[in-house]
Amino acid sequence: MTILDGKKTALEIKNEIKLKVSDMKANGERVPHLAAVLVGNDGASLTYVGSKVRSCEQIGFESTLIRLEETITEENLIQEINKLNQNETLDGFIVQLPLPKHINEERVLLAIDPKKDVDGFHPANFGRMALDLDAFIPATPFGIMQLLERYKVPTSGKHCVVVGRSHIVGRPISILMSQKGPTGDATVTVAHSRTQNLSELTRQADIIVMALGIPEYLTADMVKEGVTVIDVGITRVADEIHPKGYVIKGDVAYDEVANKASFITPVPGGVGPMTIAMLLQNTLLARQWKV
Ligand code: NDP
Repeated sequence: MTILDGKKTALEIKNEIKLKVSDMKANGERVPHLAAVLVGNDGASLTYVGSKVRSCEQIGFESTLIRLEETITEENLIQEINKLNQNETLDGFIVQLPLPKHINEERVLLAIDPKKDVDGFHPANFGRMALDLDAFIPATPFGIMQLLERYKVPTSGKHCVVVGRSHIVGRPISILMSQKGPTGDATVTVAHSRTQNLSELTRQADIIVMALGIPEYLTADMVKEGVTVIDVGITRVADEIHPKGYVIKGDVAYDEVANKASFITPVPGGVGPMTIAMLLQNTLLARQWKV
């Protein structure tokens, strides 16, 4: 059994990007610049944005954090986004989700210039991805594809069951796994909350991507020997013994499933760290595509 080590792979990717940034600096070129927009004071969002900004600093990118009041109107937020769209020193930016309830997320995401949409959430990028054109691929599915590629996990002709059909994970990964080419060419089944007899499907799967957000949902009796398991789930589960008062659980009952798996991602340390690395990779691409 091989552990798909996202922490190690993310570090490798960040080091590769760091080298490219050093070359850019040495050639007198402007380094990639990522901005993050954070509306309000949500604790988890602050943590996520903070680690994105810190990662930029570690690899030599320029970064800008734009903090806006929780009470900002949708119109004013869109005006801020238009400023970022027009800022020529900025290669890409993200708007940290979720947004306060009075703001229509879809309208905000549509306002982002697709050329700067390094989260890959704009329909223009999603459509381009689905049509095999150059596009910003959402960071989590992009990270999964990198893990499969770098660990040489066979995907061609394999049956992949994706559990979850969200726009940021399940749906895009199902498209990517079915595309032609390395880390693609799989036969994909997409399961969701209305799927019947999920275990029958997962037991047939060579590859399972779990992206539903229910801790330890996939158990050993639901998988066959030799399966590859990608666990996207991140849920905080209360744990009084732990100093933080909670532990992070994935969607997979790791210990029992790992016994049957040929490849598996741990939680934490699997898909999670890859997500930030791929956001940085998208920002580098934004800088390069601009040239
Ligand atoms: P969503 O809540 O948007 O989507 C969950 C999906 O799971 C839905 O399609 C839902 O079906 C499906 N689902 C729910 N219950 C079941 C069930 N019992 N059986 C089968 N399918 C079910 O979640 P996200 O895709 O945003 O996130 C999924 C998980 O991944 C979360 O734990 C999240 O925290 C984590 N995550 C981790 C990231 C990382 O960097 N590692 C990044 C993004 C997310 P339906 O469509 O019918 O409602």
